[in-house]
Parts: sequence; C-alpha cells; structure tokens
Amino acid sequence: MNENKVKLHINTDIVIVGTGVGGLFTALNLPRDKQIVMITKADLESSDSFLAQGGICVLKNEDDYDSYFEDTMRAGHYENRKESVDIMIRSSREIIDDLIGYGVDFERDDNGHLRFTREGAHSTPRILFHEDITGKEITSKLLAQVQKLPNVTILENTEMVDIVEQDNVCYGIVCRVSKEAMPHLITISAKDTVWACGGIGGLYTHSTNFPHLTGDALALSLRHHIKLENIDYIQIHPTTLYSEKPGRRFLISESVRGEGAILLNRKGERFVDELLPRDVVARAIYEQMEKDDMPYVHLSLENIDKKTIMEHFPNIYQHCLEEGYDITKESIPVVPAQHYFMGGVHVDCNSKTSMEQLYAVGEASCNGVHGANRLASNSLLESLVFAKRAAKHITDGFDMAESCPKLVEAAALRKYNGYDELKKQYKTEIFEEIEREKKVHEQYINEVKCR
Ligand SMILES: Cc1cc2nc3c(=O)[nH]c(=O)nc-3n(C[C@H](O)[C@H](O)[C@H](O)COP(=O)(O)OP(=O)(O)OC[C@H]3O[C@@H](n4cnc5c(N)ncnc54)[C@H](O)[C@@H]3O)c2cc1C
Repeated sequence: MNENKVKLHINTDIVIVGTGVGGLFTALNLPRDKQIVMITKADLESSDSFLAQGGICVLKNEDDYDSYFEDTMRAGHYENRKESVDIMIRSSREIIDDLIGYGVDFERDDNGHLRFTREGAHSTPRILFHEDITGKEITSKLLAQVQKLPNVTILENTEMVDIVEQDNVCYGIVCRVSKEAMPHLITISAKDTVWACGGIGGLYTHSTNFPHLTGDALALSLRHHIKLENIDYIQIHPTTLYSEKPGRRFLISESVRGEGAILLNRKGERFVDELLPRDVVARAIYEQMEKDDMPYVHLSLENIDKKTIMEHFPNIYQHCLEEGYDITKESIPVVPAQHYFMGGVHVDCNSKTSMEQLYAVGEASCNGVHGANRLASNSLLESLVFAKRAAKHITDGFDMAESCPKLVEAAALRKYNGYDELKKQYKTEIFEEIEREKKVHEQYINEVKCR
C-alpha cells in the first residue's frame, strides 16, 4: 500500500470495530468517562443491522422459557452452548426494555400491549417487530443515542487491516482510511479492542449481506492465533428474491412464511413444510430446483390477506413491486442465499476472545448461542445481550488493562502488502480454514455414527 504512509496515531481507551448493533450497544453500555473510538469500513447506514426485517425475539413470560430454550437448541441441532442460550433468553426482557428506553418503537395492539409475530421453527409467536424494518428501527435509534455521546468519536470509511499484539495481548489496531484522494493508514492505540465487524457474506457471490462484510476478524484471528469456533456453520436463507443482477440478494423474511406464505414448485404444488428450520427448508428448495431444472422456486402469499401484507410487509411489497412483482396478486421467484454466520471468533460468555484485551460481539463472534444453525430472530438479541456483557467486563477490568502506544505506532511501519493482494490472501485463508473445519466436523460425525 502506498497507503503505508501513516497520517495519524490515535490514543484512546477503547476502540470498537463496527457500527452495527453489536458495536453501538457496546459503546452505549461503556462508562461515559472512557474515551471510545468507533470505526466502520463503509458509511454508518451500511451494516447488516440496518437490513434486519423480521424482528427480535424476547421471552414472552416465564412459561415460555422451556419452549424458547428448546426451539433454540433444536434449531441449533443441540450443538449450542446451553449456558449462552440461558443467558440470552434470561436477559432478553431487560434488553427490550433498554431498547424501548432508547426510543425503539415495536408494534403494539389496540390496548398498547406489545404484538408478537412468529417465524420458522418457533413453536409460538415471540418476536417483536417494527413493520418489516425492525433492524433499521433499532439500529438508527441506537446510532442516534451514540452520536449524542461526547466521549465517542466515529470514523467512517476506516477499515481495520490488522491488530497490534504482543504476547497474546491486544494493544490496538492498524486501519486504512479509504475515502480521501490518497488512501492512508492510521493506528489506534487502546486498552481494549472490540471486534463488532459482522459476518462473512461479502466473501460469497450470492448473499443477503453487505459486500464489504468480509470476515476480517477471522482472517486476523488466523494470523494472530486467536481461537475460532464452528466457522463452517454458515446459514443459507431459504428465500431471497431471485435476480439475474449481481450484488446483494433481497431477503424475503421468514415471517412472511410465518404469516402463511407457501413454497410452490414448477407445477404450483407445495413441496415442503415452510416452517421447518432454515437449513431443512433451504435443502428442500435446492432439491426442488434440481428436479424442476429451474434456478428458483415460487413463493405465494395467496393465504395472507392484503391488509396484513401492506401493514406487516410494506418494505417487501414495495421492493418486489420495483422488481416487477405485485405480491398481493402473484407469486415471486425465490432462491436460497448465504445469510448468516453461526461460527466466528470464539468468545466466552463475557464476549472475551482467547487474546487478552480483545473482545468480539455480534455476528463476528461465536458464543455458542446458535449451535449449528440459528433460530430466526435470535441474532439481533444475541448481539445486544453479549455486547452489553462485553461492556461490563471491559468496565470491570479496565484498571487492570494496559496500553502500549509506542508498540502500536511502531506497527504502522511494518510492511503491509498492497491492499487488494492482502484482501485476496485474507479470503483464501478464511475459505481454507472453513474447509478444514468442515472436514473436522464430518470426521466427528462419522466417528459418532461408528460408535
Ligand atoms: C437481510 C438480513 C435480514 C436479517 N433479519 C434479521 C432479523 O429479522 N432478526 C435478527 O435477529 N437478525 C436478522 N439478521 C441478522 C442480523 O441483522 C445480524 O446478525 C446483526 O445485525 C449483526 O450485527 P453486527 O453488529 O454483528 O454486524 P453488522 O450490523 O453487520 O455490522 C458490522 C459492522 O462492521 C463494520 N466492519 C466490517 N469489517 C470491518 C473492518 N475490517 N474495519 C472496520 N469496520 C468493519 C461494518 O462496516 C459494519 O459497520 C438479518 C440479516 C440480514 C443480512
């Protein structure tokens, strides 16, 4: 990188990489007397958190605990960390109260009670929502709160390209600022670093994610010997709007099927129970596409009345209309696409990675909540619950943590390969590791079968 030219060294208390719900909620839960720098690779609205459509789960009441726990475990093929699932469910009400306190507006019935919807693999409606733009509602309100904080500085178009560590302690990051005429590097020295840099969809041709979400935390973990977990557990969403155009695929939320939409083959026949877990439905669609020799199957909303479509799914309605389909009158072509990453940087239940002074939250992390497959609408909740826990753990241990600004400044003098070359290497290394992990899982399954 001619970008090797370092323009700026920043010293701060905590640096957060990513401005989706994971990063924002961490910042909001840190003490106001700590200086925080947040960076985002793109602009503030380009995070998957803004894209979430369906909603956010909550424990409706104590009677729902066993059922919610079981639904999460069953969807995760019982590979979930039970402790993390328990923490998430038990914290859910508090998190929703926090969100409402920050001004998040969830749908309510005529009596002012919260309204719940249902998605695939949930045995009861327990999902809060705001039209079909729940993610935007939550993230924009959290962002507005963070922007009010005088102790937080946000840098857009600033990409973490490396961390600075010594003896398994993280002291900060090296970033590339891309929007100016000449891209350049900056270094940020901090006592604690939080990775909230989202999923890996940008590594795939067909994904519902923003293309700049390229699993950078994984690549850096591989290079710095930070523990990863289940990185071959990648969720394919069964229903995205089929398009021949390149780029991000538009999601047709699971709650559309939850409200009664059905999947049809070429002959107009149903071929699967639409509310089975996502991986099962996606597999059935792939099989049907092969049988029909078609690049998609159909999704029909004929069982959902027009009022519900217009009230609950206005964004989906509008988008499909722009693509030439009136979902109140006709079925739409849908195809599975990469959607969510269950694996990630291994963290404990306080979101701490295997490296000291380094945390990971949100989709970049793996705290084991989702096991082998995520239950719909658990990810916003999981991101928020474990972001708050990261903030608490950082706060509790802050006085013991150390900074090392000289080491961080010196790191920028290290030779970084040309940017494009570096990104290619990161991608190759991640896919190689995914393949390796897949083989480990296959071998384990075979061993279990042989027992
Ligand atoms: C279409 C869609 C619909 C969804 N619907 C739902 C739903 O209904 N319910 C639900 O619970 N979940 C849903 N999800 C999943 C959920 O939105 C995400 O899992 C969650 O928002 C992840 O939040 P995050 O903070 O971890 O990451 P993100 O919100 O993706 O934010 C990642 C941030 O990291 C930044 N970043 C990445 N790499 C770098 C780098 N190297 N340097 C600097 N910054 C970097 C990005 O710019 C961004 O700011 C949906 C996801 C998609 C794509």
